[in-house]
Amino acid sequence: EGIVIAIDGPSGSGKSSTSRGVAKARDLRYLDTGAMYRALTWWMLDNGVDVDDPAAVAAAVERPVITMGTDPKAPTVSVDGRDVAAEIRGKDVTGSVSAVSAVPEARELLVRTQREVIAAARAESTGIVVEGRDITTVVAPDAPVKLFLTASPEARAQRRSREVRSSDVAATQADLARRDKLDSSRTHSPLTQTADATELDTTGLTLDEVVALVVKLADE
Ligand code: C5P
Repeated sequence: EGIVIAIDGPSGSGKSSTSRGVAKARDLRYLDTGAMYRALTWWMLDNGVDVDDPAAVAAAVERPVITMGTDPKAPTVSVDGRDVAAEIRGKDVTGSVSAVSAVPEARELLVRTQREVIAAARAESTGIVVEGRDITTVVAPDAPVKLFLTASPEARAQRRSREVRSSDVAATQADLARRDKLDSSRTHSPLTQTADATELDTTGLTLDEVVALVVKLADE
């Protein structure tokens, strides 16, 4: 059976690039669970659901069909057959995703789907790298390799700004702080660092260095 590598951490900690890099290096599948929460949020906004009303979000969670492509060289995310990779990175979705991901019914549904994707990859005996906020704690607590990535607030803001091609690093840092607060203070599966996940501070490390460290851990 394939290996499961679970990676949690806040935005800008280097989770996505690291997870993809490790999956490519070890020929594993790759699942970005943040993209699933974003896809669900995109659908809610597109269908006029009031994302600040948890009951409205809960009532609608089963309606969209979210499909993830897990090839690390070309991961895909679609909703009802439509490719939404670009849309889910927009400001509207980023501004609303913490509200949607705080709704227990949304989490239950997506966690179920995530466990199915993991089971499918393990059955293929290829293994998978899964990244998010609750992978080491809720989605795959029994994963043999569990990591919690961190980085200084400045490094995280610089990376995120580069990703979204913004020159306003201060505004990005403020938005990250806002989402950190929401993601770690919600009652249902908040972002939490546990002792059994290896902490890896990526500040000052290159992507290649971080990937090499994780591959080494997985080989142990
Ligand atoms: O990783 P990314 O920044 O794309 O995640 C977007 C949002 O999705 C996070 O701010 C968080 O609210 C939510 N999320 C979550 N649980 C996960 C992954 C993401 O609540 N496993």
